[in-house]
Amino acid sequence: MHIEIDANPEETLILKNACQKAFERLDRLFGGRFADISRDLRIQIGDGLTESGGQTVLSENKILFDRQKMLLSLAEAEKQLAGVLDPGDWTGVMSAKDAARSGSCMEYNFIHEIAHILAQTDGDEASYHRIDSSESPTRYGRQPDKFSRKKDHEALAEGFTYITFGRPVGKPMQAAIDQLVQEHLRSLA
Ligand SMILES: [Zn+2]
Repeated sequence: MHIEIDANPEETLILKNACQKAFERLDRLFGGRFADISRDLRIQIGDGLTESGGQTVLSENKILFDRQKMLLSLAEAEKQLAGVLDPGDWTGVMSAKDAARSGSCMEYNFIHEIAHILAQTDGDEASYHRIDSSESPTRYGRQPDKFSRKKDHEALAEGFTYITFGRPVGKPMQAAIDQLVQEHLRSLA
């Protein structure tokens, strides 16, 4: 994985640490194989790269993040997304102290975007619908918005993030994520 950060030194350290923490969580989920799974992935963090906080570019195996949004604490990001998220939807995955820390938004969204990369790599339309949006642990994955009428892929990304943080999800979600993880581990063999 290549991570490029366009920010001042202090911000760069915060963002780098958040990516590192997320990476370690993912590595635990993948039994120490996440470096192999994400070898060719490129992460770019900077200004004006994406209008949303994070955006996956599947064709280039790349994830773009907005510097300013990712520097937010998860608590602040959740507050700004009121109506899209219910209170606790994001902050519930970590301690209140961690959720109040600058860059915790990066940690959460790093994992969320990784889910999009992992779920869509086979280019199969069906992979977008591994789970019904009603199974999402957060409002964001359930509620249609201007970008998507059907939020199955966002539900999956939110479920994946919950599981990576060690939070419980419903049985269908757990099964869908187990399958996704297994698919990638098998592809390494
Ligand atoms: Zn998403």
